[in-house]
Order: sequence, then C-alpha cells, then structure tokens
Amino acid sequence: MRTVRIVLATHNRGKVAEMRHMLEEQLSTRSNTRCDLVSAGDLGLPDPVENGVTFEENALLKARFVAQRTGLPGIADDSGLVVDVMGAAPGILSARWAGVHGDDAANRRLLLAQLKDIPTGKRMAHFECRAALVIPRGYDNAEAVEIVRSGKMTGHIAHAPRGLNGFGYDSIFVPDDQLNLSAAEEGRPWTCAELTAEQKNAISHRGKAMRALLEDIQARLF
Ligand code: IMP
Repeated sequence: MRTVRIVLATHNRGKVAEMRHMLEEQLSTRSNTRCDLVSAGDLGLPDPVENGVTFEENALLKARFVAQRTGLPGIADDSGLVVDVMGAAPGILSARWAGVHGDDAANRRLLLAQLKDIPTGKRMAHFECRAALVIPRGYDNAEAVEIVRSGKMTGHIAHAPRGLNGFGYDSIFVPDDQLNLSAAEEGRPWTCAELTAEQKNAISHRGKAMRALLEDIQARLF
C-alpha cells in the first residue's frame, strides 16, 4: 500500500483534531493509498508570520511555508469570526482579539463585553474559512500546485457561553443550522460547543471548505 504524507500547517490542537478526523477518514476509505497526516507542530516547525490581510492570503502563506520546508504537500486553513454589527471584526484578528494569540477565553470575554448592549436579534455573525493546498514544485516530478477553497457558517452570538466542546468562539456561537437536534425541543438552540465534532463538521465553515479541498487532494495526490 502506498502512503502519501501531507503536512497540516497548524499548531492548534482543536484544528488538528477536526482536520485529521475529516481527512484521514475520507481519504483512507477512497483508495488503497494510505494518508499519513502530520502537523507542523508534530514536525517541530515554527509558525510563519501571518502578515496576509485576507483569510485567503494567510491560508496560502501557511500552506506554502510547510510545503517549502518539507518538500511535501501542505494544507492550511485560515478562518475567523465576522460579527455583523462590528463590520469585518474580529475577522483575521479573531485568534488574537484580546491581544494574546490563542487566548480563547479572553477573546470570548472581550467579544461578549463589546456586544453587551446588543439585543439577540442584532447579534448576527458568521465564520469564514479558506482552505489551501500547496504541492511544492518537484513533488512527484511535477510543477507546483496552489488551490484555495472556501466555506461559511452563519449564526449569532449568544449572551453567555454554553458547552465544553470545540475551541475558540464555539461556546458563544449559535449556528443557524441546528441539524434538527433534539435539544432544540428544550427551547434553546445549541452553540457549536454543544455539538459533537461530527455534528459541527457537517455544518461548519471549515468542514465545507475542507470537503471541497478534499476533492482536489483526491484528484491530485491519490
Ligand atoms: P487562525 O488559526 O488564524 O485561522 O485563527 C482562527 C481563529 O478564529 C481561532 O483562533 C478562533 O478564535 C476563531 N475560529 C476559527 N474557526 C473557529 C471555529 O470553528 N470555532 C471557534 N472559533 C473559531
């Protein structure tokens, strides 16, 4: 059996878990080629400076970085939360909204404080994701490949956190798509942090973008 090693350009454990789940499962069942996913964290690679000003620029920059460093196909996503009444914010600054990169609890607290006086009907928001595949020049004796796919999940910001699953803003984000969950019968819609990984992947910005990218990965590498 042939093994294709792909590098996930992230150090975020929540993302690694989500992406590994989607990619390994689907790719391994599609052919007799095994998919070996490793993360930039596993390989001890540093994070590149994320100086792009769009999700697409940052996704490409991260995928290029790991592809160039390893000579292997690289996958990256760049994502963030956009709150309607805040314009494009937090947007590309989502991971460091309260000042410290990756301090999820502080980011959620700041966002809730900023939206304190905004009523439920005006708290619309969405997550955006761009997923990039970069195959470096020379891999399999071929030219370089760069592909970007996108995904979106609409919803609103809750007034207080609920749920323990997921990461980032999951516990304060209520997706519009409630997947006919039985808990909706209890009188309140669920936040993303109350969903299982499978339930969230089915409706999430990253799930949508990665499923689209999966078609490209399948076509180019398997
Ligand atoms: P990135 O790692 O530069 O893509 O930053 C994404 C940031 O956006 C994360 O650190 C989270 O704060 C937020 N984010 C992106 N996707 C999600 C999600 O699925 N759930 C919750 N927060 C997310």
